[in-house]
Amino acid sequence: MNIARLLLRSATAFPARPAILHGTRLLADYATFAGRAARIGAYLRNTLRLVPGDRIALFMSNCPEYLEVLYGTWWAGLVVVPVNAKLHPRELAYAVEDAGAACLFISPDLSAGPLPTATAGGALKRIIVAGSAEYTALLGTPPIALTHRDSNELAWIFYTSGTTGHPKGVMQTHRNLLTMTACYFSDVDTVEAADCIAYAAPMSHGAGMYNFPHVLKAARHVIPESGGFDAAELCTLASSLGRLSLFAAPTMVRRAVDHIDAADADPSGFKTLVYGGGPMYVEDIRRALDTMGNRFVQIYGQGECPMCITSLPREVLAERDHPQWLERIGSVGTAQSLVEIKIAGSDGFALPEGQTGEILVRGDAVMAGYWRNPTATEKTLHDGWLWTGDMGSMDSAGFLTLKDRSKDVIISGGSNIYPREIEEVLLLHPAVHEVSVVGRKDPEWGEVVIAFIAGDRVDAAELDAHCLEHIARFKRPKEYRFVGSLPKNNYGKVLKTELRKLLG
Ligand code: AMP
Repeated sequence: MNIARLLLRSATAFPARPAILHGTRLLADYATFAGRAARIGAYLRNTLRLVPGDRIALFMSNCPEYLEVLYGTWWAGLVVVPVNAKLHPRELAYAVEDAGAACLFISPDLSAGPLPTATAGGALKRIIVAGSAEYTALLGTPPIALTHRDSNELAWIFYTSGTTGHPKGVMQTHRNLLTMTACYFSDVDTVEAADCIAYAAPMSHGAGMYNFPHVLKAARHVIPESGGFDAAELCTLASSLGRLSLFAAPTMVRRAVDHIDAADADPSGFKTLVYGGGPMYVEDIRRALDTMGNRFVQIYGQGECPMCITSLPREVLAERDHPQWLERIGSVGTAQSLVEIKIAGSDGFALPEGQTGEILVRGDAVMAGYWRNPTATEKTLHDGWLWTGDMGSMDSAGFLTLKDRSKDVIISGGSNIYPREIEEVLLLHPAVHEVSVVGRKDPEWGEVVIAFIAGDRVDAAELDAHCLEHIARFKRPKEYRFVGSLPKNNYGKVLKTELRKLLG
């Protein structure tokens, strides 16, 4: 089934329901939204003569046209390649070329930068600026009917953040995305027509995927006028629109909570903040729950199994008198309904309960493989499982605690040290605002622990004493380095690779 059928279904049943808003301004109801998708699809098929399976790249900041270009592409049976709008032109060129995109849609704010060249004879035939006269004209194309796609056909190529080497194109099928959508309802949240989903994080990534459950329920899609995350703007949107949900990286949750605290703002317009994509430390989620109430759900996923490995639902976050509450809010929750998880040693055999190993996943949300990269596919998908590269352990109730990426584990004197554990401890110290722990090569120990800290300067001896109160002596950092801020990638993830470079 073509995932764009979700839009057709809502537009048929509820044509007049509000669909797309820019800030609080309504731009399209469901009939208009689907009509525009059908015309964009018609343009791609009939004017550009593209055929099902061809790729369409999007290099667009979050903007009202984003959703209609996504759905227009699927409507025509084609494949979307959403590229992070903050990437360098070289990285954009790589994705467009690697995916063999036939058409590139860009948002007006990005149209001045160096762009790949479109030629009639080349793979890239056309570059179209959203909202331009050309765009308006193509919306005049007579619409086509929705193209049938088998669920196993490709829908979305998602380029990994690629902290080393070239990014890889994760192939997500219609089945993967439909499974993720079903899991949203069973494991993350309910959705009603009166709800809003705000796109405060890049739509090229997980935030964009949360459109599906909201299209299915004919709810409202809100593109903030800032095009991104602005805590004050979101609070205003939440109070004027009500029932506002969003996907937020943990750093965004922190900023929203800071704002609400400082401005004494009313959080009641927010319905759900789904957080994930990076570690949420226990201290941070505790504070978020205290400030905003029970409005949070955590998800753990990766491009290779988008938004859909585990979830930590609001009921568990609310159960403060549960004897394992602290452990549970520090976990990423339990497997989502339509995937299985195994904690395995490097031989692929399941490890006993509570032991730390690599997290393997299988189920209908797992990617079909990497685009035109069988070697990388074979490395990541084998023995019937997705090898996530994340380390974790599972308790007897199925709660998964994430340690770190396997490559970030520090081996010192033969013992494994998980940076996350030390980061959690350091964050309990009031002077530490943000922290990231990495290993430095050491002739005696193999590696030693180094903590990079953004916050108020304090003595190493004080931090040492603090660590010794909470963790074994051998795990405590050998050095604490104070930095103005931690290096982050375009999705707000701390770049440990950059920190390691600082160690020489
Ligand atoms: P990406 O493929 O860019 O979405 O990155 C996925 C990676 O982010 C995962 O493999 C994890 O290492 C990390 N990640 C995702 N969700 C969480 C979470 N809830 N807690 C901690 N790390 C996470």
